[in-house]
Amino acid sequence: MPGLMQRCKQCESPLAKTDAACVNCGESAVVVMAKPDFKKRFGKLVTVLFILSAVLTVVALFTSYVGSFVTCLATTIVLLMVKKSADEMSSSEQ
Ligand SMILES: [Zn+2]
Repeated sequence: MPGLMQRCKQCESPLAKTDAACVNCGESAVVVMAKPDFKKRFGKLVTVLFILSAVLTVVALFTSYVGSFVTCLATTIVLLMVKKSADEMSSSEQ
């Protein structure tokens, strides 16, 4: 995958995984491309889902579907807890 290719931090030329130094400029410290921050993405996804669920809960509150209100409320609470732990995970790393 070209997106995961390592690049020299001096000249940005692509490097093979086995290269200890850049073939172009000789820079020895090879930059490992940062992995996508899954935790950050996960946190964002949970936040979006939480907002959607909260909106649905409010909507369900004003409709006669009590069953769906309970389901939405439960989903919102679960997402709130997941969001909280996701926030704690990401903040403890900094
Ligand atoms: Zn280089």
